[in-house]
Amino acid sequence: MADIFDKIIAGEIPAYKVYEDDDVLAFLDISQVTPGHTLLVPKKHVADIFDYDDQTAREVLLKLPILARAIKASNPAITGINIQSNNGPSAGQTVIHSHWHLIPRYDDDNLNAQLAPTIDHSADFTPARYQEIANQIAKEMEAGK
Ligand SMILES: [Zn+2]
Repeated sequence: MADIFDKIIAGEIPAYKVYEDDDVLAFLDISQVTPGHTLLVPKKHVADIFDYDDQTAREVLLKLPILARAIKASNPAITGINIQSNNGPSAGQTVIHSHWHLIPRYDDDNLNAQLAPTIDHSADFTPARYQEIANQIAKEMEAGK
C-alpha cells in the first residue's frame, strides 16, 4: 500500500520540493520544526534503516551532506543542523517509508532537539513562505551540484 511519501514521489500529493533526481526526493517537512526543516527520502520504497540495500544507501546517504550544506547556505541565520531518522514505531517512526529529517538550527531557536519531531509549526507558515524557503534551498542545491 502506498504511503504518503510514495504519493508525494508519484506527484499525487503536492510538496515543496527542494531537490529531485532518479533516486531521491527532498522536500520541506510541513511541520517546519524550524524554518528550512527538510525531509530526504529514497524514491524506492524502503521501510526503514533495516530495509536498505547498499545501492539505495549510497544514493540517499551521499545526498545528506550535500543537502545539509544547501540548507545552511540558504539562510545566513542557520548555524547548525540536526539530522535524524526514526526507525520502527518504537523509535517514533510514523510514516513507514524511510526518511531523514534535516532540521536547521538557529542560535536563538530554544529548541529541545530531542522533542523536535513532535513539534508542528505549520500554522505559522503560508504557502508563499514554504515556497520561498524551498526555492532558497533548491537554488543552493543547484549551485552545489
Ligand atoms: Zn513508501
